[in-house]
Amino acid sequence: MPHVLSLEGKIALVTGGSQGIGETIARRLASAGATVLVAARNQEKSAAVAASIVDAGGSAEAVSLDVADPSSVPALFKGIAERHGRLDILVNNAGITDDGLLLRMSKESWDRVLATDLTGVYLVTQEAVKLMMKKRVAGRIVTVGSVVGLMGNAGQANYAAAKAGVVGFSMSLAREIGSRGITVNVVAPGYIETAMTEALSEEQRKALAGRIVLGRLGTGEDVAGAVLYLASDLASYVTGTVLNVSGGLLIP
Ligand code: NAP
Repeated sequence: MPHVLSLEGKIALVTGGSQGIGETIARRLASAGATVLVAARNQEKSAAVAASIVDAGGSAEAVSLDVADPSSVPALFKGIAERHGRLDILVNNAGITDDGLLLRMSKESWDRVLATDLTGVYLVTQEAVKLMMKKRVAGRIVTVGSVVGLMGNAGQANYAAAKAGVVGFSMSLAREIGSRGITVNVVAPGYIETAMTEALSEEQRKALAGRIVLGRLGTGEDVAGAVLYLASDLASYVTGTVLNVSGGLLIP
């Protein structure tokens, strides 16, 4: 009997899969048996991630994508349809921040963050849904949001607006395509150890951990586990929900 977490035979697209949380998600889905398309702008980095997944015995390839460029998205999906004929799992993970207090936040900064973190999710998901519906797959769409989109964060009005936006977007889409057997969910991480948080001093790290019920920052694996669950058969009756992976930073 196949394992319920097995993604054997599935094609998965991970945006922003070339580093950080997305890279860990890509590795995790590949180790569950999926063929993973590692998508990002920097092709050198995504090719290196795909190659190391293949070296480890998995199946992966690098694909070029700029989620903020409307012309880049249909081109990618044309390629996926031609090479793989289907898409089973979409993980919208690509995201950027450009922090600043609202009074000093430029329109350019607002637009840049919204273009990647919210409009990018719309552009990629729309193409993914078209392909999933055409091939009648029981698709899985998982978007990496943030608890900041649920509780706010001073200095991140642009980012929080985008991350709150993906929640409303996903809940609406879940209602639109549930009848097609496609689920749509959000994973909302709290503070996760990444290259960015490596720069924090021990004192800053302690102060941050003190606000987290489980007493530590999260890891990419913590987020990837939640994504794997939502992408797997275990979550076939879960849609339109937000899975809070913040170690209790946010307990609503
Ligand atoms: P990261 O290390 O900065 O990686 C971001 C990834 O997204 C890279 O692969 C990057 O590759 C890609 N990307 C950025 N802009 C893109 C674009 N326009 N088109 C395609 N790919 C693009 O970020 P991370 O910390 O792992 O965060 C990943 C996700 O988790 C984001 O959505 C973030 O908001 C969310 N999150 C992070 C934390 C945290 O503590 N780190 C907490 C909550 C939520 P290229 O630059 O080559 O395109």
